[in-house]
Amino acid sequence: MRKKIVAGNWKMNTLLKDGMELAKSVEKLEKKKSSDALVIIAPPFTHLSEVRQLIENVKLSAQDCASEPSGAYTGEVSPEMLVSSGVEYVIIGHSERRAYYNEDNELLNKKVKLALSAGLKPIYCCGEVLEERETGKLFDVVKEQLKVGLKDLTTDEISQVIIAYEPVWAIGTGVVASPDQAQEMHKFIRDLLVELFDGQVAEEMSILYGGSCKPSNAEVLFANPDVDGGLIGGASLNAEDFVAIVNAY
Ligand code: PEP
Repeated sequence: MRKKIVAGNWKMNTLLKDGMELAKSVEKLEKKKSSDALVIIAPPFTHLSEVRQLIENVKLSAQDCASEPSGAYTGEVSPEMLVSSGVEYVIIGHSERRAYYNEDNELLNKKVKLALSAGLKPIYCCGEVLEERETGKLFDVVKEQLKVGLKDLTTDEISQVIIAYEPVWAIGTGVVASPDQAQEMHKFIRDLLVELFDGQVAEEMSILYGGSCKPSNAEVLFANPDVDGGLIGGASLNAEDFVAIVNAY
């Protein structure tokens, strides 16, 4: 059975006190939720240990991790450090990391493997920019992101990975993919995963949609057969909106 998942990416938002309040509110609303979706939050690194103490049902994710296990990498945070702070998931390959920090598919593959070896579950992001969609390159781009980013994973490893399809033109823009656009790409991704990995495992992987998802549009997006939840940016900064998206499932 595919897991339904709604994950909130807080990005570089909230100071510690506000982040702790937000986490508490999400936990409280989660306990009363009407859906059986798994709820994950990804606060900034500085909040992780404190937030860990405040949540029980809600799961904890980091927004990134290092590609090296330890050593002289100033400013980096290793997967093992995240695990030691009670983190279970890690977002890898978000389009902002790809665009602003030049993270390419090869580097992301190292991160995915290291995260898995430390026991984290990667939420691996993929998605095309507008020009790639408009010039018909969207499927090639996403295929490359998945083929290289998830290269050489064993069946056990790939079964721990969550995919997030986030068309870059929809992230933070208020322009959401249509349900048909989302379903078309999610089906393409699932077929590709079946081709690249064990078919049964790929069928059971969760593929989340991300990009301007809100309480008002979540239900139609989640109604698609290959959309297994969402990765939520802006709307995850408000506990009511975030859990309303969860309840849209
Ligand atoms: C994101 O950055 O992962 C995202 C989906 O952002 P937003 O929901 O704000 O478009």
